[in-house]
Amino acid sequence: MDGSDCCCAICLHDMEADDVKLRAMPCSHIFHQNCIFKWLRRSATCPLCRHQLPTEEAAADDEEEVQQQLQRIRFESERLDRWINLVDELLQTRS
Ligand SMILES: [Zn+2]
Ligand SMILES: [Zn+2]
Repeated sequence: MDGSDCCCAICLHDMEADDVKLRAMPCSHIFHQNCIFKWLRRSATCPLCRHQLPTEEAAADDEEEVQQQLQRIRFESERLDRWINLVDELLQTRS
């Protein structure tokens, strides 16, 4: 285990507790499961290297698209849950 693996970059606590699940991002950075999912609900990037996870979001480059996005906001949490499920499959489980 090298220095970068010693603690979770989100909460800065160590990752040695037996009862805490760890997850590895596609970029291979490892975080507490709870921490990374909380983080990913706000930002779809790795907190360490900004590796971008795939999202369903389309670029809003005209007014009609912006209006549609506003309408979609009320579905946002539902979509987020679906996206988190997708991310759940992307992230490897570390024990
Ligand atoms: Zn953490
Ligand atoms: Zn990373």
